[in-house]
Amino acid sequence: MKFKFTKIKKSVLISIEGLVQGVGFRPFVYRLANKYNLNGNVANRTDGVIVNLYGEEKLIESFKNDIVKFAPPAAFVKNIISENTKSVFVDFKILSSELNEQITEISPDIAVCDDCLHDLKSQNHRINYPFINCTNCGPRFSIVNKIPYDRINTSMADFKMCKTCHEEYHTVLDRRFHAQPVACNNCGPTYIMNGKSDFEKILDELVVKIDSGEVVSVKGLGGYNIICDAKNNDAVLRAREIKGRDGKPFAVMFRNLNAVEKYCKLDSKEKEILKSWQKPIVILEQKLNLASSINYKLNSIGAMLPYLPFHYLMFEKLKTDAVVYTSANISGSPIIADNNLANNTLKNKVDLFVTHNRKIENPLDDSVVKIASNDIQFIRRARGFVPKPVYLNRSVEGVFATGAELKNSFCIGKNSSAILSQYIGDLKDFETYSFYQKAIERYFELFKFKPKLIACDMHPEYLSTGFAEKLNQSDINGNKITIVKVQHHHAHIASCLAENQINEKVIGISFDGTGYGTDGNIWGGEFLVCDTKTFDRYAHFDYVKMPGGDLAVNEPWRMLLSYLDKNSFQDIRSLKCFDSVQNEEIELVYNMIQKGINVPLTSSAGRLFDTVSCLLNLCSKQTFDAEAPMRLESIIDKSENDFYPYIYNNGIINFTETIQAIINDLNTIDISIISAKFHNAIVNIILDVSKRIQKDTAINRVILSGGTFQNKYLLEKSINILTKNNFEIYTNRLVPPNDGGIALGQLVIASNYL
Ligand code: ZN
Ligand code: ZN
Ligand code: FE
Repeated sequence: MKFKFTKIKKSVLISIEGLVQGVGFRPFVYRLANKYNLNGNVANRTDGVIVNLYGEEKLIESFKNDIVKFAPPAAFVKNIISENTKSVFVDFKILSSELNEQITEISPDIAVCDDCLHDLKSQNHRINYPFINCTNCGPRFSIVNKIPYDRINTSMADFKMCKTCHEEYHTVLDRRFHAQPVACNNCGPTYIMNGKSDFEKILDELVVKIDSGEVVSVKGLGGYNIICDAKNNDAVLRAREIKGRDGKPFAVMFRNLNAVEKYCKLDSKEKEILKSWQKPIVILEQKLNLASSINYKLNSIGAMLPYLPFHYLMFEKLKTDAVVYTSANISGSPIIADNNLANNTLKNKVDLFVTHNRKIENPLDDSVVKIASNDIQFIRRARGFVPKPVYLNRSVEGVFATGAELKNSFCIGKNSSAILSQYIGDLKDFETYSFYQKAIERYFELFKFKPKLIACDMHPEYLSTGFAEKLNQSDINGNKITIVKVQHHHAHIASCLAENQINEKVIGISFDGTGYGTDGNIWGGEFLVCDTKTFDRYAHFDYVKMPGGDLAVNEPWRMLLSYLDKNSFQDIRSLKCFDSVQNEEIELVYNMIQKGINVPLTSSAGRLFDTVSCLLNLCSKQTFDAEAPMRLESIIDKSENDFYPYIYNNGIINFTETIQAIINDLNTIDISIISAKFHNAIVNIILDVSKRIQKDTAINRVILSGGTFQNKYLLEKSINILTKNNFEIYTNRLVPPNDGGIALGQLVIASNYL
């Protein structure tokens, strides 16, 4: 008997949810349908795309597999749902995207792709064109001012496509089909120097300046940048002078991966992130010195690879293989993105000033990440990642979280997505606060957002709290919007709960510098038992006086004096770290401590790390945020397993014995070992208190969040030891553990009141 096989044909409707708009997803679907000989169509939808398919069953399955496997690099497929239909199609079409007001997804900016780098040398109309891009790469969020993401709603609206570009834009199988920023040498944006736009001349002059040790400013993707030779110390010092501030390490852009490997240690995960389409700054361990004033003896470098076509063209001509590449801002203000402002504030300070005529709609800095426990950790979340949402398992529609004060980011809720803004900065800076307000306005408009509920920090003096209250009063409909005030450390833990979609109670360990507590004191070494609704403060670091309040943050010697007073330690002048402090200053601060004048109480982990760093004479005065703990981490002898003692008493962790033991070791043991023993003590405390909570509550999940966990040694060692003791550990991987991630936590906590 013979069987006759007929190929079974069927029809399906596939809904693909995720970040699939403006990243070349529909052309990808088109090519895939062609490959498997399937008919049907693809169209944009509010939360993704829908694909109708008609064809052989087996091939439809292959299609579905490939969708996930081979999706364009910047696309993010969250979910695929397939249902059977009865539709029959005779060809495959990309349906035009109607002006759907509901589509609110915007792709982050994407680093230039390899195909475009190839076209840069081979396509007649794009030879060395510094703004080359395609469906898979190029500017996105930084140029959009309205949704949907169409050319008319971007700063590319100023440029009329030439005939060639127009044709590419409308040809389905072209790499630039519907690439909104498509442009070429004949029709697109240009770089400009002294009113002229001869790019080859600009580039020639630029590289000569950089190679001869001068400092230049060039308009980039999210703002202006300051660039100089990273191996020329005088140049780097001048760049610091121009920025008018502190000793914060500068990021370095390397020519290529080989150059990175020459100066930095690099594991496979770090390599992967460095090369990713987001091209962030990755904090790496230093191997070979660049100019010393890049990081002033810290053992790490913020390294990045070229991400704009312009960067590649620059390195083609540059002799040096490493340049300082830092946001152009003056004294802590936001990155300069406006041409007029740059003209007025920047142009005369640098040796060469290059601008371009594509407007930056949404200013943003380069993102900064590090790898800890083989996972990405955000230090600063901006270019390449914003505004990709964090997907939640609950509705947060209409919730607006105003964020913290330092390292501010805010967050808005759309359906079950949380959209965290780019890094905004320190709101106490006037320019930053006005950037904050403008950015909020822009997000409300871009994402068609109307706040129904506002979340903010509990701190009565935070400008973000003030902003929440102002917004509440200015509701013109007479409807009062509810404000939910969220405790800072609860928000840190909740940000991680949100990322991991955890609703149950956890052990929340929140270590950072400063956060307002429910008792009016400054918290920061906190063990909470909490979920996204409520928290109990199970244990905390013992309170110490903070002489001069905020001044004690900038000057760790003040905190040390406070800790020494607690220890009844008298012989202050025997400690080298006080050499740089005047007698009168010490006396004044000592009196403050004795009399209790202007000495708020703090349980801050950050201040404890500052204290120990100062005691080891690593940092008596900080020239940038978290310098003292960074220097302390930087010297650790990782082979040391010994640790210092501490006292746990009824939920209070006291460091009197710890400080005394360090003083005893000070003249006999190397500070790299002292630093290790101190860090190991903190790790022991984390394990000890977790076990106590576990015993009392049977909770097994531990969340580690807060700025202190940017300390890689502390984080990795804590994760190791907790895992060995069968705890289940969660850390932040989508938003920063520092105050840049606070808004996400505020948002989910407040969403309980919806
Ligand atoms: Zn491309
Ligand atoms: Zn063109
Ligand atoms: Fe914090």
